[in-house]
Parts: sequence; C-alpha cells; structure tokens
Amino acid sequence: SAMREDRIKKTKTVCTYCGVGCSFDVWTKDREILKVEPQIDAPANGISTCVKGKFGWDYVNSEERLTKPLIREGDSFREAEWEEAFNLITSKFLGIKKTHGPDSMAFISSSKCTNEESYLMQKLARGVIGTNNVDNCSRYCQTPATVGLFRTVGYGGDSGSITDIEQSELVLVVGSNTSESHPVLATRVKRSHKLKGQKLIVADLRKHEMADRADIFIQPKSGTDIVWLSAITKYIVDQGWEDKTFLKNRVNGLQEYINSLATYTLEYAADVTGIPKEVLIQMAESIHKAETVCVLWAMGVTQHVGGSDTSTAISNLLLITGNYGKPGAGSYPLRGHNNVQGASDFGSMPDRFPGYEKITDDQVRAKYEKSWGVKIPAEPGLNNHDMVSGIHEGKVKAMYLKGEDMGLVDSNINYVHEAFEKLDFFVVQDIFFSKTAQFADVVLPASPSLEKEGTFTNTERRIQRLYQALEPLGESKPDWQIIMEIANRLGADWDYAHPGDIMDEAASLSPLYAGVSYERLEGYKSLQWPVAKDGVDSPLLFLDEFPFPDGKARLYPVEWTEPLQFDKEYDLHVNNGRLLEHFHEGNMTYKSEGITSKTPSVFLEVSPELAAERGLENGTLVRLTSPYGSVKVECHITDRVRGKEVYLPMNDPDEGAINYLTSSHADKDTDTPAYKEISAKMEILKVK
Ligand code: SF4
Repeated sequence: SAMREDRIKKTKTVCTYCGVGCSFDVWTKDREILKVEPQIDAPANGISTCVKGKFGWDYVNSEERLTKPLIREGDSFREAEWEEAFNLITSKFLGIKKTHGPDSMAFISSSKCTNEESYLMQKLARGVIGTNNVDNCSRYCQTPATVGLFRTVGYGGDSGSITDIEQSELVLVVGSNTSESHPVLATRVKRSHKLKGQKLIVADLRKHEMADRADIFIQPKSGTDIVWLSAITKYIVDQGWEDKTFLKNRVNGLQEYINSLATYTLEYAADVTGIPKEVLIQMAESIHKAETVCVLWAMGVTQHVGGSDTSTAISNLLLITGNYGKPGAGSYPLRGHNNVQGASDFGSMPDRFPGYEKITDDQVRAKYEKSWGVKIPAEPGLNNHDMVSGIHEGKVKAMYLKGEDMGLVDSNINYVHEAFEKLDFFVVQDIFFSKTAQFADVVLPASPSLEKEGTFTNTERRIQRLYQALEPLGESKPDWQIIMEIANRLGADWDYAHPGDIMDEAASLSPLYAGVSYERLEGYKSLQWPVAKDGVDSPLLFLDEFPFPDGKARLYPVEWTEPLQFDKEYDLHVNNGRLLEHFHEGNMTYKSEGITSKTPSVFLEVSPELAAERGLENGTLVRLTSPYGSVKVECHITDRVRGKEVYLPMNDPDEGAINYLTSSHADKDTDTPAYKEISAKMEILKVK
C-alpha cells in the first residue's frame, strides 16, 4: 500500500566504523534497518563494504541506548528531564569557572562525532569558557603520524587518495593490520598485488593476512621500526639512489639529514631489529626499483615512545626517494575511527584552531577573537593525557566529554578511573552508558550518525555528508544541539539552525575549508581538503609545493628511542589491536547482534611454542598481569604470533580490557600512550 511505501526510506550515509569512509544508502522501514546498499558513486568504496559497514547498524535500536538524561544520586543514577540536567550543568560550570578559572575545565571531543560537533566543542571551550583545554582521541592513535608529517611535508593527512594506493608500484605497510582494520582499502591493495603486479612489503610483529600475501614480510623486534627504516634510507643514499632532482628542487636539509644517518649501518640495524642484512638490502633495492612507493602505517608505529619519530622516518624515506607529489606515491597514515581526521581538522586540539592554524599565532587568534567576540588564551591547553594528570594534581576540576570511552580506551585505566573519581563535576555524553559514564555526575543521551546530519572526513582528507535516516531515539539529541544548548545557557548566542551553518562558519574562518559548503557536498559529492574558495579540492597533495614559506619540504633528523624495559618477571610482550568484526573497544559492535553472533568474545593469541612450554590449550583461561593491572582471558593458539609475543584484541569492554595492563608512558612528542610497549606475566586459572 501507499502507507507502507511511505514508511520505507532510502538515506545516504557514511560508515562510522573506520577511516576508509565508505558511503552507501541505508534502507529503513520506520526504525528498522532493512539493508545497506553501496552505490557506484561512492568515492572511497564504490560498491564494496565490509562486514561492519554492512551488518553493524542495529546498535541504533539497542535496548541499551540512553534515551533520557541521567543525574547521579549517591552511587546510582536517576532519570531526569533535559531542563534539570541543563540547569545543573550550567550552574556547576559557571561556579567552577568562577572559583577555579577557565583552565580548571577540560573538554573532550570525539572522532565518532561529526566535524561540526568537533568544531562546536572547541568553540565552547575557547569561545565560551575561555580555555584551550580541548582534545580528542586521535591523541590515542594518530597524532604522532600527524606530527611526523607536519615536520617534513607540512600537512598532517594522507598525501593522496585511496585510489592512488591502488596504482602504486610498491606498497610498504608498517604496523598496520590493514585487512582487518581498514578492510575495503586493503581489498584494493590485495587486488593490485594480485592482478597488477604491485609489490607488497609488510613489517609487523604479527603474521596477519597482509603478511601472508607480502612479497617480503619482516618481523622486527618491537619498537625498532625507526632503525630499519633509517638503515634502508642510509643504504639508498650510500648507493647514490636518492632522487637527486627532487631533493635539489623541492627539499631542504639534505646534508644535515644524511649526517644524522651515520649510526644506522646495516650491521647496526640487523643487530637491533633482528632483520638480516640481506633482507634489508632486498627491501632497499625494491624501493629503489619502484617508480612509485606508498607507505601505509598505523598504530604499530604510532603507539610507542618514539611514535612521532618513526612516523618522521617514514616521511624522510619518501622524501629521499622522491615519492611525494605524484600519483601512486606518498604517505598514508591510516586513520582508525571514521572521523579521527575530522576531529583534529576541526580544532579539537589544545594547540590548534580548525584547519591546524596555531593557537600561538597572534593573527590567527585575533581572527577568532573577532569572530567570536571573546579573548582566547595565547598558550596551548592541556591534551587528554595531561588532563588526567591535571585532575590528579587538583588543577582540573570539571570535564565535559562526548562520545569517547576514555575510561576504557586510555592507557593505564586504573589510574584514569582514580582521576575521574576526583573530579568535582563530570558530564558524559554518549549513546550508551559507557565505562566512562559510570564515573559521571550527569550523563546526556546523544544521537548516533543515522539520527542526524553532518559531515565526516575520512583518511584521505575527504569530507562527506551524512543525512538523517531516523528520528533521534527517545529523548536523545544530536551532539551539536546539546553543545549549542549548553553554550547558550552559559551566555553564548549561537543560532545554528542546521549543521550546514556550522560548516559555513568554519569555512569562513579556516583557509583549509575556504570553499567547503553543504551544497558542494550534496549526495555522493565530496571534497578533499585543502579546498580553495572556488571549490577546487586537493585529491593529491604537494604537486607543486609543500605548505612551508619557501614551498620546500624538510628532511627532519630523528633518533631511535629504546622501547620501555620491564622487570624480568614480566616475560611476555603483549601486542594489541583490532579484530575485523569489532570496532575498537567494541562499545557499538557489542550492541549489534549481526556482529556478536559471529565473534562473541575476546581471546589471547599465543604461539605454539609458548603453548607447548606452558601447557596451554585452546580455551585455557589465564590471567595476565603487568606492573599496572591484570586481565583474565582465554587462550587461542596460532602461528600468527611468535615465541613470547602474545596478542590481545582491544575489543573487550570488561575483564579482558587491554588497558588494565598498559602504562602511562607515552610518545615523547605527543603524549600518545605507548600501548604497544607493555609486558606481562601469565598464570593459568583454568584448563578447558
Ligand atoms: Fe565501514 Fe571501514 Fe568497513 Fe568501509 S571498510 S564498510 S568504512 S568499517
């Protein structure tokens, strides 16, 4: 019947599960998700999706969705009306600001939320409260990659498009489990490798699917990537294979950089990394022979004490070999969450305005002060790592956090939980009652992507629109509306009628988005930043120049920082990462039956050698204990891992949560936690 037809609706949306940014139509009948239908026009994926994008949407109708604000009463929570929740937040925020100053407050935005929502969160912090204490979870994953690229080439994003990776002659993958973490992108690499003779080199601790397919696969010792990268670069220079024309015309700092490579001989690298000299030479030769090289990297590189430096070394290698500014070449830090790129792009960072303009730049600050009618502090604020210690030290008293489960995903979470308990006032805004929400004073129910409009930016800097498929569930509201209501009650006069208005404001202030508008992003249209005023975007960066005053890139010398050392009793190195079926810490996918029926729980991968030595079988329950905490988990024996290397997927929201084990040690340049540098000891609890 006509009635029935009306209830069936097709809406274009963007996947929320990873940085590839697949877009597709979602068919709904009332609140029921009928199917996901990819379209050939979709720029990142065409007609492909992976299991998460295809089946991972029923969480929006989960019984566990928050549908009303909650207010703490003693050890429990009671439901409240929005009015009461807003009034409480307003009076507490104003009181704390008055007594302790604006810098006693901290704001956490989310890479699950839209660009517009991240823009508003930093505007609330800077423009209404008057602090630069605002950050987002890219601090936990990709900020080191951004820093490595800022240092060398000036823009912190993928230098080309996903389709460029496809046409590359050689793809080098470092510390990325691409086929499970970025499935649709990995499919393109697999296809080029199989059909077009693309060469594939993979470096990882774990022998995952990409490793199985690689022409060369190396398993360097944990935390030593910078050493073999630098040794290969040095060998290339020693052979006279560097791209002399490119270096002469487009790059600064060559001699100083070459001098800095002196220690990185093949012998030294073989000794430190465990990779034989012949294999290092073979890799250097392959890179030299390829006309175009792309490097893909992820958390295996960034989540170390030297994460920024290793990212820098990758970019140095690309510069030395002239692999920037041409199709099929360049740097591809693979962004994890759907909007990791956008959350930072739109200014939810303590030291940057939207479009990465610096807080410390007087002219930039003056521009925002004029537009927002406020005074903005000239000093960068606290990042999320420093916020936690700031709370412990009594400097930070209140926090407003949206869409992040910091109490699960930050490292050393016992320490983070103690901090949350010390806060005078804590507002958590999410679609579910997260681990973090347990520590809140007020919990606000937000609406997920299918229930609102906005834009996401994928790993290739591509901005795409999502349209509203469903009404907000219960009394939940889109994050941008909640932030606007709070801002206005604190004295602002924001009047955004639609997220498109927020984008217009960002475009008017930030040169990176000068030509971005919702009109230009209609339907499956998209734009890759920087976008000039006339709407011309940038699928491939650095064609003519690098964004530095003289237009030249910079080679940036870096040194190896030894990974953390633990007492001998902690004899197992605990690697960690994603599983194909689950999304990060699992707080959305665990609410999706389409997903949990396939991969119900987490397990610890142990090597056959370790299993034999300790008498472990598939299903043996063990406790792992690090100096910071412990987890309980069942074993799964596999030759994907070797010797005393174990692998714990990061998806367990409960007793198996990896961050009970991890430390507060971090990348020295960005404070990104060194998640990948942790050791533990094992006890057997129960044999199956
Ligand atoms: Fe979603 Fe990533 Fe899968 Fe694409 S590859 S459908 S963006 S999870």
